[in-house]
Amino acid sequence: MDNDFDFTDQFDIPDEVMDEIQQNIEDIITNFPIPEANKLDVIKKINFMYSRTRHLSLTDALTGLYNRRHFDHTVEREFLRSKRYGRNLSIAILDIDFFKKINDTYGHLCGDYVLKEVAYLILDNFRKTDIVFRYGGEEFVILLTETALEQTVIPLERLRKTIEEQLFSYNNQQIKVTVSVGAAQNTTESVNDFLNNADKALYKAKNSGRNKVILFDEN
Ligand code: GH3
Ligand code: MG
Ligand code: MG
Repeated sequence: MDNDFDFTDQFDIPDEVMDEIQQNIEDIITNFPIPEANKLDVIKKINFMYSRTRHLSLTDALTGLYNRRHFDHTVEREFLRSKRYGRNLSIAILDIDFFKKINDTYGHLCGDYVLKEVAYLILDNFRKTDIVFRYGGEEFVILLTETALEQTVIPLERLRKTIEEQLFSYNNQQIKVTVSVGAAQNTTESVNDFLNNADKALYKAKNSGRNKVILFDEN
């Protein structure tokens, strides 16, 4: 059996893991008495199960967005790629303002509802080539490929405004939600500095009144 069942085009799977999986599948197909006529179906089923499991491991159950694990992997790869080919890459970190208060006032389930709605609004706001992640709790990250920092203002401001104006309604209660956003570009040496710069910009947005988009500025 060689490359009849190659999943590498579906997900970013490290080569070693890929080899191990392929080996296991080959073992099953070769060493168990599966009638020749059923082999293709068995392979398809294994492929399906593997894809589902892989998908679940990369996404966040509440919002359906890519999760932190996938972010760590993707940001590294996209950063290196952008550096190698001299392309623009920007990153935005978005944090919901006073989210703890939403939980405390309306309950945790309402907090979850707000997270899902915000996730939807973020996804809806960006291009297909931009990648959206739930970074943790009430923080989201957007990787904007082929985008210079100044070019992030329009979509980020549009998103900030959309969320500010959105009517979040839970159990007949109207909830106001705002977000703060910090963005940076891949002008740094390391991927860590790239992330840190966006974080610094977010910190500025929080400390200068929230409900703001701030672009990282060296000064
Ligand atoms: P700031 O404007 O400074 O960002 O204030 P904040 O209240 O948003 O920030 P803080 O970090 O104090 O609170 C974040 C809260 O998010 C606390 C935590 O309980 C809540 N949280 C994290 N994950 C989830 C989740 O999955 N569901 C719900 N409902 N709440 C969550
Ligand atoms: Mg936070
Ligand atoms: Mg917050």
